[in-house]
Amino acid sequence: MLGGTSEARALAAELERCGVRAVSSLAGRVTEPRLPTGEVRIGGFGGPEGLAAWLGREGVAAVVDATHPFAERIGASAASASAATGVPLLRLERPGWRAGRGDDWRWVDSLEDAAGMLPALGERVFLTTGRQGLPAFAPVTDVWFLIRCVDRPDPPLPPNAEVLLDRGPYTVDTERTLMRTRGIDVLVTKDSGGRYTEAKLTAARELGCPVVVVRRPRRPVVTTVGTVADALAWVQSVLRHDDGMAR
Ligand code: NAP
Repeated sequence: MLGGTSEARALAAELERCGVRAVSSLAGRVTEPRLPTGEVRIGGFGGPEGLAAWLGREGVAAVVDATHPFAERIGASAASASAATGVPLLRLERPGWRAGRGDDWRWVDSLEDAAGMLPALGERVFLTTGRQGLPAFAPVTDVWFLIRCVDRPDPPLPPNAEVLLDRGPYTVDTERTLMRTRGIDVLVTKDSGGRYTEAKLTAARELGCPVVVVRRPRRPVVTTVGTVADALAWVQSVLRHDDGMAR
């Protein structure tokens, strides 16, 4: 299982409960990652060829790509390694967020587009897009940023900024209070989806704050499910099929 998400951790727990041997793979980006139950390996594979070789070495019967919707490269790597080895691949991806009544969302295709839009939208920005894409906002000098991420970000950062290290979980109350006390008038988020980080969207709606939402990147087209239960059923059906072939 290619992980690094709450769904991946939930699926690891379900597989362990069902007695299926699973290995969770993490990229190693976060200093102290939330670890799933069961076996874990950490670090890149060395591209699609490295992943294909690893699948063969470990005798892997099925791969679930449960990585974050914005993890762009590992999805292509998984698709290519699966095609090369014949190991079946499933994508587990939580649905994206949808605007509701009272929301003021502006969709953009990239962090750079989000950065370009900000000066016209507000003066105090709550930036929740994660540590990796922050250089896109470095040229924005005429707004103030509250940057929230799990680990301390590397430069370049925008010059007027406060960095808040936090990994949640967040509630609507804590998000509303944070946004109020910092005088936030714009929120920037990726369309990560899921319930874990959606409280900020409710808080923004309640405070009448516009939200800049970065669209998900394209990924290879593979069999995809949206829930842990469906991913578990898929794994079990692949393993049953393998069992049947072995008899
Ligand atoms: P990425 O751009 O897709 O991956 C970059 C490289 O990191 C990959 O080519 C691969 O290296 C390695 N890698 C990524 N995920 C891996 C995994 N689960 N196990 C082993 N190696 C992995 O991904 P990213 O955006 O840097 O994200 C890294 C991890 O953080 C992902 O696993 C993702 O689930 C998690 N995450 C990402 C975000 C986000 O916004 N991007 C948010 C929350 C969590 P090799 O080519 O050497 O195999």
